[in-house]
Formats: sequence, C-alpha cells, structure tokens
Amino acid sequence: MPGSEAMPQEIRRLGVHALRILWEDGHEAEYGNRYLRDHCPCAECRGKPQALPIVGQTEEVYPVQIATVGRYAVSMQWSDGHDAGIYSYQTLRRLCPCPRCNGTARAT
Ligand SMILES: [Zn+2]
Ligand SMILES: [Zn+2]
Repeated sequence: MPGSEAMPQEIRRLGVHALRILWEDGHEAEYGNRYLRDHCPCAECRGKPQALPIVGQTEEVYPVQIATVGRYAVSMQWSDGHDAGIYSYQTLRRLCPCPRCNGTARAT
C-alpha cells in the first residue's frame, strides 16, 4: 500500500550473521549483518567512496546493541565500534533483500 509506513513488530537476531524483522503487515525480512552494516545510512559512511568488496572476506560484524529511536527508527551499535547509524523503518524496509521487495517496481 503506497504511502503507508510499516512498523517492525519484532526485531530478532539470527545468530551472529543476520537480523530478522517481522513487519506489522506480516512481511518477514532477513538482513545479513554485513549487508546492513554496508548500507549504514549515517553521513560518515555515506560520504565514503564505496569500498570494493574483498572476495572471501569473512570478517564478522554484528549488532551489539539495537535500540529504537522514537517511533520511526532503530539505532545500531556494531561490533566494529561504529554506532552512528540510525536506520529509519522506511530505510530498513527499502533495504529488504527479498525478491518481493526488490523484484517489483520500487517506489522511492
Ligand atoms: Zn555509518
Ligand atoms: Zn521483503
């Protein structure tokens, strides 16, 4: 439904590799921790030139702490010490890597 902003009903860590968000509209999204970290929306990360992915990179990164910010976002503190990222629910929903969210016409 365009215009409606889904809220997460539940945010759960899946081991150290991924995070699962259950949205109030019933959609379940699974995000790899590395994927989320790479998409950190803070100015510091966005200002950097995109680092080329290193093939075979196995460096683990996971959220040490997840806190809600008001009613619109969550902040994540990462195991690499970075804690400036505030992911709005809208951003998180847009980052959903599932084919349903990414395969269809993407609304901006
Ligand atoms: Zn960042
Ligand atoms: Zn999705």
